Amino acid sequence: MESADIAQDLEHVLYTRDQIAAKVAEMAAAIDRDYAGREPLLVGVLNGAVMVMSDLARAMRSHLTMDWMAVSSYGAGTKSSGVVRIMKDLTTDIHGKDVIIVEDIVDTGLTLSYLVANLQSREPASVEIAALFRKPDALTVDVDVKYLGFDIPSEFVVGYGLDYAGRYRNLVDVATLRPSVYS
Ligand code: 5GP
Repeated sequence: MESADIAQDLEHVLYTRDQIAAKVAEMAAAIDRDYAGREPLLVGVLNGAVMVMSDLARAMRSHLTMDWMAVSSYGAGTKSSGVVRIMKDLTTDIHGKDVIIVEDIVDTGLTLSYLVANLQSREPASVEIAALFRKPDALTVDVDVKYLGFDIPSEFVVGYGLDYAGRYRNLVDVATLRPSVYS
């Protein structure tokens, strides 16, 4: 049974707010180094990447611009449907730009492989991926995450932008949910 207090619904915390902040700072420093003298366009994948985009961008020292895309994802369930649909497209032209897709989590990799191909067709100068979490299944598909936070086990997690049925995005840690929450 769910509770009015988010903390009561959690089973196990995988990463705390401090651990996430330290990792995001490392990712930002790596991007700053690699893009020295260039001005990357960070493309956040709504809604899950809102928190990581916000923290990653502010941890970077270089000039950058931001844009957002929304694609269909799991809906209210916890399994990937394999169907990727653009619900909101970019507002900027990425032709000739150095694009970095900012994603919360790579599971099957279906979403990202679709997004990379889609953005490549618009002829940017480059496309790379920054993702905070990656699950083992992602290793079997052709998705090269250049800036990775953590490899995590194949279990459903929430928090730091990641939802279950729209909830838990505001949890500052990343955690699994008690089985009772799903019933
Ligand atoms: P993929 O296409 O790689 O299978 O799935 C990517 C998307 O599925 C992520 O952007 C995220 O929205 C969702 N997703 C994958 N694993 C999880 C998870 O453990 N928790 C949550 N909340 N969403 C997930």
